[in-house]
Amino acid sequence: MTRVHRIVMLGAPGAGKGTQAVRLAEHFQIPTISTGELFRQHIRTGTELGELAATYIDGGNLVPDDITIRMVKERLSRTDVEGGFILDGFPRTVVQAEALGEMLGEEDITAVVELWVDAEEVIPRLLNRAATEARSDDTAEVIRQRIKVYREQTRPLHEYYIKEGTLREINAVGEIEQITERILAELER
Ligand code: ADP
Repeated sequence: MTRVHRIVMLGAPGAGKGTQAVRLAEHFQIPTISTGELFRQHIRTGTELGELAATYIDGGNLVPDDITIRMVKERLSRTDVEGGFILDGFPRTVVQAEALGEMLGEEDITAVVELWVDAEEVIPRLLNRAATEARSDDTAEVIRQRIKVYREQTRPLHEYYIKEGTLREINAVGEIEQITERILAELER
């Protein structure tokens, strides 16, 4: 019997969620759902949702829960997630976590992978990405705001998923490959 993996990635901006999500998706042959990517797609194609989302994203703030939840719900209703999925960047608030629980119903999240890095490590990583990817939300000021938002709104999910019993903490300092190995080992336990 193959196990269905329904995985949530947690961690500060720049912790490497996106990088590891893609690697895990490849390993398990399941799709990655990145809310940041979904929003950026909307922005690129000029949808109404994209226009609205951009005003929040460019300031380093979260897109309102109702909009984000609706977008994820739509994505999770497609058939390609039936064999499992990796969520990258969702949930980011307790309200979103509760909504995800409702969306999944009987199908529990199999693991919440929380990547841990030092704050000193994260800021240079993000600035470096800003230089290479030209993301409009990777300027020093916006990065600071995103970290603040993470501390205030997303960090409570640590406690939330400890209570749910699904949290797996991973030391995310090191080589990309090595961190993937740590996650896979943790998921096999
Ligand atoms: P990072 O992981 O580096 O912070 P993302 O690509 O995941 O970047 O997200 C970029 C931006 O998209 C966030 O700063 C936020 O404005 C918006 N966003 C992404 N996911 C969510 C979410 N679940 N809820 C609200 N806003 C979100």
